[in-house]
Amino acid sequence: MEQFKEYVKKYKIYIAVGVMLLVLIAIVSQNNPQPVEEKQVVNSGDCRAVMVLNYHKVDSTFHSLSIAPADFERQMQWLQQHGYHSITPEQLYDFVTTGEALPDNPILITFDDGYVDNYSNAYPIMKKYGFVGTIFVVTTFLDKYPNYLTWDQAKELEANGFSIESHTATHKSMTEASDAQIVEELTQSKATLKEKLGKDVNFVAYPTGTYNLHIAQLVKNAGYKAAFTIKFDTVNRNSNIYALERVPIFHTANTNKDFLERIQYLPLISKDGWVKK
Ligand SMILES: [Zn+2]
Repeated sequence: MEQFKEYVKKYKIYIAVGVMLLVLIAIVSQNNPQPVEEKQVVNSGDCRAVMVLNYHKVDSTFHSLSIAPADFERQMQWLQQHGYHSITPEQLYDFVTTGEALPDNPILITFDDGYVDNYSNAYPIMKKYGFVGTIFVVTTFLDKYPNYLTWDQAKELEANGFSIESHTATHKSMTEASDAQIVEELTQSKATLKEKLGKDVNFVAYPTGTYNLHIAQLVKNAGYKAAFTIKFDTVNRNSNIYALERVPIFHTANTNKDFLERIQYLPLISKDGWVKK
């Protein structure tokens, strides 16, 4: 013991220096940044994330699917003031599949179901701010129920830059339908749209948003170029063309604040990381 004490006394300066060195090494290695993994660039060209907004009704019924016209106008005004340009589904398709350039701040504004208020309320507001929209219609509902579009209204919207696309024939959830029913829904709505509007309809939105890979294959077989889900995210060039992401805009206690949060922050969140499936 005595010997040990003397040993310590004799070499304490060396021991102290040794301990200090160890502490120093520990500090330096902690502050030293780890080598950053090189980000892999999957596609050349435009790698932006594009937001696809998903509306349903634009009226004052306080239904959760309804945005009040005044709120809708504030949202369109905000988009215009911030330099957004509305695009068509065809432009989005070209961007995802071939990297075709899009205008600055592109946004695809979509509506599901084909409610008459899309024509009477949303359309005049969008026209005022220089935007076009895409309406996914349930083809057997037009000219049948008063709260849905008429074919004449659909034609007028098409003639003014809007895109009328398929939301199937009867709005049956595809995950609850047989293959034969799914094919019927897809082909019948496509044929009706061709007959009524004189154009090939290439895009479909899954009713209630439900789909799976098998259903996506049936959509492809039926001659559609792309399909839209309600998977909450932005679209980029890694997106599955038969499972395109959208951002729903609903009536909430704070509709416009929620709208701004989605528009401004979602691209930042999704830019770096969420793996697309
Ligand atoms: Zn729907």
